[in-house]
Amino acid sequence: MSRRDELAEGLAATRSRLDAACRAAGRDRTEVALLPVTKFFPASDIALLQELGCTDFGENREQEAAAKAAELTGARLHMLGHIQRNKAKSVARWAAMVHSLDSIRLAGALERSTEAALEAGVRAAPLDVLIQISLDGDPARGGVTRADLAALVETVAQSPSLRLRGVMGVPPLEADPERAFTELAELWTDVRRDHPDADVFSAGMSGDLELAVKLGSTCVRVGTAILGRRPLTSLP
Ligand SMILES: *Cc1c(COP(=O)(O)O)cnc(C)c1O
Repeated sequence: MSRRDELAEGLAATRSRLDAACRAAGRDRTEVALLPVTKFFPASDIALLQELGCTDFGENREQEAAAKAAELTGARLHMLGHIQRNKAKSVARWAAMVHSLDSIRLAGALERSTEAALEAGVRAAPLDVLIQISLDGDPARGGVTRADLAALVETVAQSPSLRLRGVMGVPPLEADPERAFTELAELWTDVRRDHPDADVFSAGMSGDLELAVKLGSTCVRVGTAILGRRPLTSLP
């Protein structure tokens, strides 16, 4: 089977899972975006997925994503992974959206870098930002704790170059995922009360997208189910 056929098959299977999940949850299919996660896979896979109708892609390593952005035209890349502050400048050049903002210091770095990129004409629009929430406070997995969420929300909301678009979350390893998605959805509802434009709840991956859709996700981030098992080493 050609790589194009493999990807078409993975995409079709994932789209029907998503259709069924929306039907089961009584939600309109247009409420939930499918974001293919292409980390560890070559830019040529993104190009094939573009031919198959995808426009947006998730990446989680800065260098790998920057290289792909330079190679591709028209692909909107989303940063899902941890961002070191010294990489903010590069991220502001290639990212359409960041799902993993988790500190006020990083918000400041992204704000300054986005302003510079706008001034230099490297980007045309403010940077869409999701705040990554950590339910267990495990710093290794990233995310802001519940206690620090409100201050970070206000920092982003007041930024001229960042646009608060919502929240992102991953259930903690040991947690009951149903309960975790429910808590994340509640925190998102709190954020949206003051910021109605924060309309994105990024939750759910290959293994748990049905549950995430049931509990309110508006963006599922799916790698393995579309692209297959990831190679062990990162590209390039
Ligand atoms: C890799 C990754 C995904 C995709 O995971 P799969 O289980 O392969 O679907 C989703 N979200 C984030 C933040 C990731 O890093």
